[in-house]
Amino acid sequence: MVNDFSYIDENLRIIRERAGEAFDKYRKASDSLRIMAVTKTVIPEAVNHAVSLGIDLLGENRVQEYLSKKDFYEKNAEVQFIGSLQTNKVKYIIDSVTMIQSVDSIRLAETISRLAVKNNRIIDILCEVNIGGEDSKGGIVPEETGDFIGQIAELEGIRIRGLMTIPPPCDSDIFLGRMQELFNRVAEQKRDIVSIDTLSMGMTHDYADAIKYGSNIVRIGTGLFGARNYNIKR
Ligand SMILES: *Cc1c(COP(=O)(O)O)cnc(C)c1O
Repeated sequence: MVNDFSYIDENLRIIRERAGEAFDKYRKASDSLRIMAVTKTVIPEAVNHAVSLGIDLLGENRVQEYLSKKDFYEKNAEVQFIGSLQTNKVKYIIDSVTMIQSVDSIRLAETISRLAVKNNRIIDILCEVNIGGEDSKGGIVPEETGDFIGQIAELEGIRIRGLMTIPPPCDSDIFLGRMQELFNRVAEQKRDIVSIDTLSMGMTHDYADAIKYGSNIVRIGTGLFGARNYNIKR
């Protein structure tokens, strides 16, 4: 049986249209914006179909699932890690991802640094911020973001590129706005030690708002691939 992935064409067309409208309205032409396809629970054939439509950035949440799928992915898309990451699993992804967006502890940053050096790589990282202060979510406390960056800035093998967040689902635009302020403040405060240029926020339900508030990477799963089926083997 040949799968019909034409729903992905239509979903991506809508996403590009809405993202483009928000970008044209709120952003400078020189700003960068990338659409990441978030692949959790999605079969590699569907992911590759999105890649064939021009998606060049994939987001992975779970190490085990990623390892089971990565050999089947088209090689021309870049892979970034966006899920919570235990230090003992960094070794499995260090040679194949370009960025780890979910760095929220010094220990994790140190582990990535050590393994990056060992593998002769430079890994881009984002610091994940818990902008809504939710107990259920990882991420550093907003007020501590500057200090956190100061503490890891000297580590070899990593390059701090910016911030990532998953805002609370309700009132997400308030938190997206706070995140933009935090990003600008930290960029200014820390500009002598790091040059940050990447703000990753916005998912299926809030990517247009996230673009309004300065996002450079919107991470889209269900809006592109449809509702997730957690029953697939992973
Ligand atoms: C699942 C996930 C997304 C995508 O969420 P959708 O609502 O399906 O678009 C984005 N970012 C992270 C960190 C995720 O885990």
